[in-house]
Amino acid sequence: MKPEKPLEIGIMLGVGDDPAESLAKVKAVGLNNAQMGRPPAQYLAGDAFEELRDAVEESGITITTVFCGFDGESYADIPTVKETVGYVPAGPRAERVQETLAISEFAKGLGVDAVAAHIGFIPEDHTDPLFGEMVETLQGIADHCAGNGQVFSLETGQESGAGLLAFLKAVDRDNLKVNFDPANMILYGSGEPIEAMEIVKDYIVSVHAKDGTWSDQPTVTFGEETPLGAGDVNMTQFVEKLKEIGFDGYITIEREISGDEQIADIQAGIELLRSLVG
Ligand code: MG
Repeated sequence: MKPEKPLEIGIMLGVGDDPAESLAKVKAVGLNNAQMGRPPAQYLAGDAFEELRDAVEESGITITTVFCGFDGESYADIPTVKETVGYVPAGPRAERVQETLAISEFAKGLGVDAVAAHIGFIPEDHTDPLFGEMVETLQGIADHCAGNGQVFSLETGQESGAGLLAFLKAVDRDNLKVNFDPANMILYGSGEPIEAMEIVKDYIVSVHAKDGTWSDQPTVTFGEETPLGAGDVNMTQFVEKLKEIGFDGYITIEREISGDEQIADIQAGIELLRSLVG
């Protein structure tokens, strides 16, 4: 799904317990589009789904992507992310794939043509059996999404640009894409984001405008997420790079805190991005 004007600004939206409240948050900051965070299971089908779909329609807000997330994931620190996130842990993998396919159906019901997830740490060593398992898993997910007319996007951050490109090529599916988050690359210590954008530019269909600082122990502990402009991403360079690569999608602000401070940071972020997008 493309905006009428490239680089239209939106926000990341958690559904939470009350979808109406979440939708109101988008309107409160004066925007008309959002990515949706993991929908709670009770909204995936039935009456609750229909209620959610009607609320989205009435709001006039365009949902640009639906994200997956899974029980048992923990972002406590980087080693824990490696063990628990995405399709990496073998134990819950089949169940998580099933949930992903259900979210693809849910997104289709909302008329959304993009599903995304943090898929977990992909081994850079292609002889690691996990690499092949991840390739096969993502082929199955991408094929299901293709049947629903959707792309499936990998949220960046946990691997280098070169590592991500090698994985995309190994999976070899036209609808496997990238949701590029420049801050994650810094927070995880996985490389300079602007350089990585160049490497995977042909795959980027959506982006997060998020900022953060490098950790003093990169790849072990996280850096710190900050308001847009206060971190190490360099938002001016980020937006310039998006223009340079001809990105024509939505730019989605992600601020992973809550409450009044989140709204204030989002509003300041919108102003900053508007000044950069032009
Ligand atoms: Mg993100």
